[in-house]
Amino acid sequence: MPGTRTLAPRITVIGAGMAGSDAALAAARLGVAVDLWEQRPVRTTPAHHTDRFAELVCSNSLGGEGESNAKGLLQAEMAAAGGVVVTSAHATRVPAGGALAVDREAFSERVTREVRAHPLVTVHVGEVERVPEGIVVLASGPLTSDALATSIQELVGEGFLGFYDAAAPVIAHDSIDLDVAYRKGRYGQADDYLNLPFSREAYDRWYAAVAEARSHTPHDWEKLEFFEGCMPIEEIARRGYDTPRFGPLKPVGLEHPVTGERFFAVAQLRQEDAAGRMWSLVGFQTGLKWGDQKTVVQTIPGLEEADVVRYGVMHRNTYLCAPRLLDADLSLRTRPDVFVAGVLAGTEGYLESSATGWLAGTNAARRALGFPPAIPPEATMLGGLVRYLASAQAEGFQPMNANWGLVPVAPKGRGAPGKRERREAAYRAGRDAFGSWLEELKDAAPQIV
Ligand SMILES: Cc1cc2nc3c(=O)[nH]c(=O)nc-3n(C[C@H](O)[C@H](O)[C@H](O)COP(=O)(O)OP(=O)(O)OC[C@H]3O[C@@H](n4cnc5c(N)ncnc54)[C@H](O)[C@@H]3O)c2cc1C
Repeated sequence: MPGTRTLAPRITVIGAGMAGSDAALAAARLGVAVDLWEQRPVRTTPAHHTDRFAELVCSNSLGGEGESNAKGLLQAEMAAAGGVVVTSAHATRVPAGGALAVDREAFSERVTREVRAHPLVTVHVGEVERVPEGIVVLASGPLTSDALATSIQELVGEGFLGFYDAAAPVIAHDSIDLDVAYRKGRYGQADDYLNLPFSREAYDRWYAAVAEARSHTPHDWEKLEFFEGCMPIEEIARRGYDTPRFGPLKPVGLEHPVTGERFFAVAQLRQEDAAGRMWSLVGFQTGLKWGDQKTVVQTIPGLEEADVVRYGVMHRNTYLCAPRLLDADLSLRTRPDVFVAGVLAGTEGYLESSATGWLAGTNAARRALGFPPAIPPEATMLGGLVRYLASAQAEGFQPMNANWGLVPVAPKGRGAPGKRERREAAYRAGRDAFGSWLEELKDAAPQIV
């Protein structure tokens, strides 16, 4: 009615990344007004390139799918919850042989549209410099702006941590030599990857180029800690001549589909966009200077003429020591009206960030509405993850991603089913427990809109 003041309770969400997008929409869908703050494009980060929400800063994959995959369970939970990141990923997927990979442009465009379209979400463009009063979700991510990072540090004290992370180069498809590259998935999986085979001599040339290349970041590697699975290729190579051949250049299962030839090493390219115009080098996250990076890429067989459409980068990461600071509902123990989500909360990965965003937004809204906090059951991947965050060893705490160590899986033993069957049973238990829990939540919060 014109002139009527809205009485909807309000919360603030800081950051419209993977976590903040899900947090804002989850809260709004519960009938709570949301002030969503995003600094881009007024102020950007070294890894983001657009002003869109949920921009993917490195790989375009939200992890493996399927009923024996831990990320698959978290994807199923978020799909059941209607999480905007996972539903948008399903709508914009590209082929990736068993992984949920997306067309990155279409994906973030869709998330932005959905979040902006909700009538209870008000988007503010600008940097938040201090943690505001009231009910807040901090979702400013691994590259939280300096001013806000200082304010968060003042709020939480010693439990403020940081480490380094890296992104891989992306290559234009029309610059790949398709007489050399061949399509194949490892171990006979779908032929979604382009493979670049190395002879021993080619590998020697590539290895020498990596050794000579200069990095943007001081080579003080020992003092840096890396995002698990995102270690820079130059650091992998530095650890030994054969180390890349046991990592991203592993030739096993990638024999040539026509000749059957087995190669000394194989690099893989994964499709980045729906049209297949951009392909990223799998596992080639790097902080090398761009000129040197191009040289290294062009020593890979089939990429001699490669057009690098986006260079790999390496950046600071910011996160809290969750076990020291957070409860399993993702609120700060010392300030329960402040919720933390995404990488800042000590999770690792796009999917985990979005899932904790959804839970933090849900709990911030429930607090605004006077409901008790909601924590998914132990059998669920999200429940396991937030329990871990709240209760892990604080000493040496490292960010955590979805994995089977977080939920009860039947032990192996004589006569017990195999690993795959045991995981599939855990998947079904988690998915069903999450579904029942969601129903209970809806019964307790009937104003869902
Ligand atoms: C270089 C790099 C590569 C990575 N690669 C991968 C990968 O390949 N796969 C993977 O699963 N994970 C990767 N990660 C880890 C992590 O999953 C992603 O960074 C993910 O986007 C984190 O989600 P988030 O919501 O916590 O943060 P983000 O998605 O970064 O969102 C945070 C948002 O907050 C905004 N913001 C920051 N400060 C302020 C402020 N003061 N005021 C207003 N807005 C602010 C930012 O602009 C940003 O939009 C990578 C991280 C980095 C840094």
